[in-house]
Amino acid sequence: MHDLATTRHWADQGTQIFSGALARTADDALTGPTALPGWTGRHLVAHVAANAEALLNLAHWAATGEETPMYSSPGQRDADIAAGARRTPGELRRWVEESAGRLATALDGLSADHWSRTVRTAQGRLVPASQIPWLRAREVMVHAVDLDPTLGFDNLPEDFLLALVDDVVARRSGGDQPALVLSADGGRHTWKVSGRGEATALHGSLGAVAAYLTGRPRADVTAPSGAVPDLAPWL
Ligand code: ZN
Repeated sequence: MHDLATTRHWADQGTQIFSGALARTADDALTGPTALPGWTGRHLVAHVAANAEALLNLAHWAATGEETPMYSSPGQRDADIAAGARRTPGELRRWVEESAGRLATALDGLSADHWSRTVRTAQGRLVPASQIPWLRAREVMVHAVDLDPTLGFDNLPEDFLLALVDDVVARRSGGDQPALVLSADGGRHTWKVSGRGEATALHGSLGAVAAYLTGRPRADVTAPSGAVPDLAPWL
């Protein structure tokens, strides 16, 4: 995995990219659809704010040893998003900024011992607390692209995209998903997703491969041998 300085940098960079995307989105547009099926901009902003608070729970767990999961139950995450989406655009803008600030302050306060403590992600994986900045970085970066149609995955930092694709390839491998061989930027980067059936070869820019693997609609990848398999959204 990447070192803490790198992932904290990506989390800060992603927070700025998300803020920029939100600043370019008018209040009216927040009520309209995003790249995520069924989610308006308000759902998306509420989710990113609630994610900061959920990761604050993990930072608290790391700092104190007291078990505080991201969400109190599997349904709570969705209920929080639905409730949060009813806030006004002004409230949502303040909430996402203020929660990101509190998370950054909490992470600043963690010691080397705290970072090595084991915490549990929303998916139930046990990870060292040093994964928290990475969990945040991928949320803010990917959802910035979901929110702002003028921003594409190819506008995200290349080193972050490589780490993102490695992460999703690991998560999607070995299950009941279609087997894939992916190649980005004319073969400069390649990945294999082990899975069901004969592997489909896919090509695209690094951003297009990242968009495809995270299950984003209209990802610009091509399959020379036939159809591009559908993937469910991730994150
Ligand atoms: Zn998310």
